[in-house]
This record gives sequence, structure tokens and C-alpha cells, in this order.
Amino acid sequence: MKLGTTGQLLGTVLAVQANFYKVQLDQELRAREAEEVGGSGEEINTLFPSTPLPLLLCTRRMRLKKIGQQVMVGDRVVVEEPDWSGGRGAIADVLPRQTELDRPPIANADQILLVFAVADPPLEPYQLSRFLIKAESTGIDVLLCLNKSDLVSPKEKQEISDRLSKWGYQPLFISVQQEINIGEVAKYLSQKITVIAGPSGVGKSSLINALIPDINLRVGEVSGKLARGRHTTRHVELFDLPNGGLLADTPGFNQPDLDCSPQELVHYFPEVRERLANGNCRFNDCLHRDEPDCVVRGEWERYEHYLEFLDEAIARQTQLNQQADPESNLKHKTKGKGQSQYEPKLESKKYRRTSRRTQVQGLQDLYDDEE
Ligand code: GDP
Ligand code: ZN
Repeated sequence: MKLGTTGQLLGTVLAVQANFYKVQLDQELRAREAEEVGGSGEEINTLFPSTPLPLLLCTRRMRLKKIGQQVMVGDRVVVEEPDWSGGRGAIADVLPRQTELDRPPIANADQILLVFAVADPPLEPYQLSRFLIKAESTGIDVLLCLNKSDLVSPKEKQEISDRLSKWGYQPLFISVQQEINIGEVAKYLSQKITVIAGPSGVGKSSLINALIPDINLRVGEVSGKLARGRHTTRHVELFDLPNGGLLADTPGFNQPDLDCSPQELVHYFPEVRERLANGNCRFNDCLHRDEPDCVVRGEWERYEHYLEFLDEAIARQTQLNQQADPESNLKHKTKGKGQSQYEPKLESKKYRRTSRRTQVQGLQDLYDDEE
């Protein structure tokens, strides 16, 4: 068959199961191939009658195995030897990744859709803050949706909105039940790869059901429901959105662990990025506690959260460093008030993996570990 041998077949990996990859081929390519065989779009449609976009069940070429090239959900891949009638193919190459989340393993995610409810369960600022910091630490764009807006008054919504705008966010108020702003959400997700996150009970399954009517997720069950019946909660699958774009179906969520370094932490607060852009603290390694001439410390609501998360980050890094070197990589020098001033030595390379630049990060702590 001429198709597939003329140009490169490109597609996106939607799911991985054992050594098989479910690959969705590109739309543009379908049009191009149609031109190349000198036919119309209809001709191609008879070749791919079932789904809007052709799907192939693929294996990975031996060459990729030999060079240790992994294939992840979200990867853009080159497919060879398509067998259209059998729906099979082979992945010959993986294109460079734009972003990479390690837990859940998803390549090329464009954004994280963080879903919270304004009520039932009540909106807890501290919990929201934690999820936001975790999401920001991946380096991937964060979209905040507040569901169940049918349960609060316009005045309450305004108060929440004012408060979050001081945090640097413009939340989108939605109600899955009353079908408010679901179309807006769909617009944001169009043509993008989106990972959905948020605590249980806020309406994530309901929202996914509303966005993808064919999917039929069970609503209102205990957390972990999306994973039930699957081999593992690590199972990730990308679902096709009606307007184009892909949404990661992921297991239930939990209270996330923050795993960024003390120095990085402050950059995950959008409301402080501006202060930092407009001026520097006196010390390069300022942790913004009681250091003199600090541009970060001050009257902003989440400063309290910052201090709390900072303590956690310091404790975590101390522990990591002690594991790496029992003699300890940390020097502690005693400051005036008897407080211990954290001062990291040059970090060894293996602890640099949380760099925002590489965007290799885990949202894993947002997911249940049950099963
Ligand atoms: P998940 O745990 O985040 O996936 O949340 P679910 O989708 O299972 O929803 C939890 C509960 O919230 C269910 O009882 C839903 O019917 C309810 N729910 C979902 N969306 C809304 C909404 O917009 N308004 C109200 N009042 N309840 C909702
Ligand atoms: Zn400072």
C-alpha cells in the first residue's frame, strides 16, 4: 500500500500496556497522505472508517530498545509499517519531548488543570496552596477551576476571586451540575495535552464526563475509582476531547508532598515572582525569613504558607543530604537568635533533578497509592 510508505507517519501515544502502545495518528498527516495518493479526504475516510482519527496498536522497534529509548504516554512518535487492516504498526522513533512528568509518566503535557470546589468539600486555602505549589513546581502551566459554584452566592464568589487574584490566579468558576462554564473549560483544553489534578470529591470525574460524554467515569465513589479494575494506579491514559486535544485520566488524588528545594520554593508563588523581578534580596541565597534587605518577606497572604513549606523543604533536603553523605553536606552556622541558618554546599548532580528548566517532575504525590 502506498499509504505510510510515502511520508513519515506521525502520531501521539495515548496509552501503554505491557509492550504495546496505542498510537493516535495525526490529522494533518491524514490530509497530506490523501493528497499524496492523489485522492480526496473521503478516500482516506473509507480506510479509517471507525474513529475520527486512526488508531494503531504499535510495538517498539528493536533499535529503540537497544538504545534504551523509552516510549511514554504523550510521546510524539514516528510509526512505520502500518498494517491498516489489522490496525498494527511499529514505533521507529520518538520526537524530543517538550515537557516530561515522571509520576504520572506523561510526555508533552501543556497544562495542569487543577480542580477544587468552592464548597462541599469546603475550599481550604492551605490545601489549595499546596496543590498549586506542587503543580507550579512541574514548570507546566496551571489552570485553576473552581467547581460547585452553584453552592455559593455571587458575593462569595467575588470574595474568593479577589483573594485568589492576590495569589496570582484568575480562577474559572464552573458548575458541572448546572452546566456553567463547561464550554469555557473545553476551550482552554482544545488542542492541548492536559493533566487533571485536585483532591477527591471536588467533581473531577463529573467534569471529565461532561467534557467527554462517551467516557462514563463513575461519579461519587471513593478515591481511586478511576484506577479500579486496572493493573495499577500508575496506569495513565490520554482521552480524546471532542474539540481536539487530549486529557489525562488519572487516579484519585491526595495531599501532595512538596519535593522542591528550599531555594526553588519561592519561585512557585506567582505573587512573589513580580517582587523578585523588580529587585533582589541582599543575599543571593536568601531564604526570605529574617535576612536583612529581603524583597520577599512582607505583607502577602501566603507568606505564612511559604514559611511552612520552606521548613518542609529544608527538612527534606537535610534528610536527602544526610542519606547521600553521613558526614552531612550541610554546614549549620548559628545565627543571632540561636536559629540555625541553612547553608547548602554545592549540591551533587543527582539532587538537581527538580530543576524547573528540565521540567522532569512528579505530580505523583497528588495521586493515591492505594491498591
Ligand atoms: P471527584 O472525586 O473529584 O472525581 O468528584 P466526583 O466527580 O466524584 O463528584 C463528587 C460529588 O460532587 C458527586 O456527588 C457529584 O455529584 C458532586 N458534584 C459534581 N459537580 C458538582 C457541581 O457542579 N455542583 C454540585 N453541587 N455538586 C457537584
Ligand atoms: Zn529574601
